[in-house]
Formats: sequence, structure tokens, C-alpha cells
Amino acid sequence: MDVWFTGLTSQEAFDTVSKTTDEVREKAIAEDANKKSRFSFLRRGKKERYRIDQTISPHLYRVNDGDNVMYFEFSDADLGGTQVKATFSDRTKTLVQNLKTKMPPRTMSNTSVLVCPTCGRPKQPEWGFCPYDGNKYN
Ligand SMILES: [Zn+2]
Repeated sequence: MDVWFTGLTSQEAFDTVSKTTDEVREKAIAEDANKKSRFSFLRRGKKERYRIDQTISPHLYRVNDGDNVMYFEFSDADLGGTQVKATFSDRTKTLVQNLKTKMPPRTMSNTSVLVCPTCGRPKQPEWGFCPYDGNKYN
């Protein structure tokens, strides 16, 4: 399991995962087709790789890769951006690492509107100043 933060919204992070997994699935199917004859590829009952198990856009994306289930949970982070929680097996580890590098990290420009610049705690915009250290927001 791996957990990371990204500056993307949960919808953008969800779309990144679903788009990349679609590409990987198509590639896996093409590779299977190359290995075997096209007749055995068309044989019924063949397990499809990276089959979509369950999705709840934009919060859950779960695929079934044969015996393994890989899933991603997306939740809005307190200070902006999205927390991504990935559960995977050794077999899908590379894919998850690849996906992680596709998501830009959270930066101060993502969080500055939400976080007090002096203490880093969540802003209370309606107050006009920081309740923790008295810093006045610009
Ligand atoms: Zn503060």
C-alpha cells in the first residue's frame, strides 16, 4: 500500500488513473494476442487483464488483474489537493509507481489559498486573520 498527496483534484487524479489503466489494459491485451494465436486469443472465458471491478468517480477505482485486485482511493485533502491511497500487489507495483509520477505533487501555490503563510495551519477566510497566530491575511 502507498499513500501520497497530489495537487490535482480528486477528479483529475481519478481520470489519470483510469486513463493510464485503460492504456495498460489495451497493451496487455495486445501482448497476449501476440503471444498466442489469434484464435486462442478469441477463445471464450479468457481472463481480461486490469478488468474494472468497481468505480465510484471520483473516489474509488478498482481493477481486477487476474488473481490480484488493485485499487485507488481518492479523498480531498484538508489543505487542498488530493490524498491518493493505492493498494496493489507486486505485480502491479510498477504501474502504481508510474501513476504516482504522473501526478504533480502538492505545492505551496496549491495550498497558499488555504493555509496561513506564517504557521501553515488551515485558514479561516471568513475571520480575515489566523486564529492560531493572529496573522492578518492579505
Ligand atoms: Zn497562522
